[in-house]
Amino acid sequence: MAAYEYETHTYDAIVVGAGGSGLRATLGLAEQGLKTACITKVFPTRSHTVAAQGGIAASLSNMGPDHWQWHMYDTVKGSDWLGDTDAMEYLAREAPKAVYELEHYGVPFSRTEEGKIYQRPFGGHTTEFGEGPPVQRTCAAADRTGHAILHTLYGQSLKQKAEFYIEYFAIDLIMSEDGQCQGVVAWKLDDGTMHVFNAKMVVLATGGYGRAYFSATSAHTCTGDGGGMVARQGLKLQDMEFVQFHPTGIYGAGCLITEGARGEGGYLTNSEGERFMERYAPTYKDLASRDVVSRCMTMEIREGRGVGPKKDHIHLNLNHLPPETLDLRLPGITESARIFAGVDLTKEPIPVQPTVHYNMGGIPTNYWGEVLNPTDENPDAIVPGLMAVGEAGCASVHGANRLGSNSLIDLVVFGRAAAIKAGEIVDPNTENAPLNQASVDAAFDRFDKLRNANGGTPTAALRLEMQEAMQADAAVFRTDKTLAEGVEAMTKIAAKLDDLKVTDRSLVWNSDLMETLELTNLMPNALATIVSAEARKESRGAHAHEDYPDRNDTDWRKHSLAVVTGSKVDLTYRPVHMDPLTTQDQGGIDMSKIAPKKRVY
Ligand SMILES: Cc1cc2nc3c(=O)[nH]c(=O)nc-3n(C[C@H](O)[C@H](O)[C@H](O)COP(=O)(O)OP(=O)(O)OC[C@H]3O[C@@H](n4cnc5c(N)ncnc54)[C@H](O)[C@@H]3O)c2cc1C
Repeated sequence: MAAYEYETHTYDAIVVGAGGSGLRATLGLAEQGLKTACITKVFPTRSHTVAAQGGIAASLSNMGPDHWQWHMYDTVKGSDWLGDTDAMEYLAREAPKAVYELEHYGVPFSRTEEGKIYQRPFGGHTTEFGEGPPVQRTCAAADRTGHAILHTLYGQSLKQKAEFYIEYFAIDLIMSEDGQCQGVVAWKLDDGTMHVFNAKMVVLATGGYGRAYFSATSAHTCTGDGGGMVARQGLKLQDMEFVQFHPTGIYGAGCLITEGARGEGGYLTNSEGERFMERYAPTYKDLASRDVVSRCMTMEIREGRGVGPKKDHIHLNLNHLPPETLDLRLPGITESARIFAGVDLTKEPIPVQPTVHYNMGGIPTNYWGEVLNPTDENPDAIVPGLMAVGEAGCASVHGANRLGSNSLIDLVVFGRAAAIKAGEIVDPNTENAPLNQASVDAAFDRFDKLRNANGGTPTAALRLEMQEAMQADAAVFRTDKTLAEGVEAMTKIAAKLDDLKVTDRSLVWNSDLMETLELTNLMPNALATIVSAEARKESRGAHAHEDYPDRNDTDWRKHSLAVVTGSKVDLTYRPVHMDPLTTQDQGGIDMSKIAPKKRVY
């Protein structure tokens, strides 16, 4: 057994992750007087949330009529009827409250002439249950909304005396013998010391796993660590086949050009200069939902109408907009376009291509953020002591496809909900239970084994193999053949984790070892993605299967659940929650409005 000395820290609650969801949960926990710590592998304000540009959806009606029920309808339709109805109602209903809270905490939102929070149109957000014109629902702080939210929430959390463990890497969960989460084991990156956190409640807010792919808009730190930790405990990952490609990543570089660019009037053209979205989505055109736009772009490229020497990308035009609009509303992307594509937005179009952007799947939870361990007898059974929020979690509000600006609102609504629920469960006046030493030891053993890994495959080489296989076979277009090839390739690639080679054996700033730990987290996420995709014989949201072009509600309106053991994945399914929180006579949604129908924009 590996012998590492460690320091033990005891808290009521710990949050792993300091992005928007982690900070909102931390703040909510600390506000209630719970002894709270937030552990993060990067400085809080460097979390990927800082990169969110476009904004945060809430039906404030500042720019015209809007209603939470319309927002709920759009979310249900966006999810392609795979989201859980109770969670989607909770999101849409609580959204305005959560945004006003952010405003009062100090988020510097852009303003209208009358001083109200500015809202812009975003893809898939409409009025009148999809019958009316697009709505301006997305609240924005210019094109730096995530940045503004993160800085505000960090400041507020410090004010509430939450404690931060910055540049600590959480390695594994500590679980009791009877399956309760008791804490985490972490490695302090800058001095190599080891730390054990004992907590009555652990909240995973570790973000997405975009880096399982070669081209992604997400930060290099988005490695699905929470999903990896959960998978290693034999717990399930949900709906992993649903990966969102953003229509407008800068060609080559992958950096994001916000959908807000199309919200402000930008449009896409092919090699013939044609505004092709008018053909595919006559009503909402360039503002159809992301999966639809990404698929149309891919179709144009496949049919030979891509731009550039390889005819492999598309143009996004903004040069018709007044320079003042670009300056005021899109300053950040004007800069990104100059730096990463070398174009002057006022004169030329930006070269763009669909790029991996968001993981709809993740750790299954209910709408309070409690992690589920669904069984046949009880599909809603929970894992005591464990919660998951943000992109790491799957509540599920985004179902098969997330609408733009619905993630930032998910972060704060469910970060807040998890804190409220934890406040009910956690008793600050009781002692923490003693830790299951076998579970602590297992984490150190795994760490030590990787630290001394001496096989034939360097981490960077295996990571690249994984990223290329995922990019090729778990892509925008999927067929039986590509998916079967993907499963075969990824099974072989995952097995090579046993043959890793780590060169640096030190404990201080050992990026080789950290990236190896991250790779062991990316891999189960990637494997679950391709295997769940191969099994799903229909097209729904982001999962567009060429051999099964239609959605099949009879057989497939259900959540996939993947248990990953080494390079093997076992799949089961869980029913979608069909019931809302409130019925129509209680002021809730008219269920006939959200009954499944074909998803057209
Ligand atoms: C470029 C870009 C633009 C976007 N724009 C928008 C937008 O305009 N509107 C919108 O709604 N959505 C947007 N999204 C999506 C949205 O920003 C993300 O889904 C969201 O920010 C994720 O937040 P999070 O709190 O889940 O995690 P993140 O912000 O990714 O943070 C993860 C945190 O977990 C910590 N962590 C991870 N692993 C470990 C570990 N092992 N140990 C310790 N700490 C760990 C990290 O340090 C970090 O603090 C955008 C995404 C991208 C990539």
